[in-house]
Amino acid sequence: MLLCIVVKVTWDDKLCIQAGLCVKNLPSVFQLRDGKFVIVPEGAPEARVRQVVSQCPSGALKVID
Ligand code: SF4
Repeated sequence: MLLCIVVKVTWDDKLCIQAGLCVKNLPSVFQLRDGKFVIVPEGAPEARVRQVVSQCPSGALKVID
């Protein structure tokens, strides 16, 4: 059996300081498409997504449990 758990991530554009760490560190999840910020939570294992979210310097990214 394959169990796939996709973590939910929110992004607050008012808090984001455009540091780009998320896009640089995990581009399979955090992406810029046509100038818009897009989150693809299934693009990496949950633990890795949580790790990068925890490194967001502004607190704009949050994991919803
Ligand atoms: S790491 Fe946080 S502050 Fe930096 S671009 Fe991503 S969401 Fe914005």
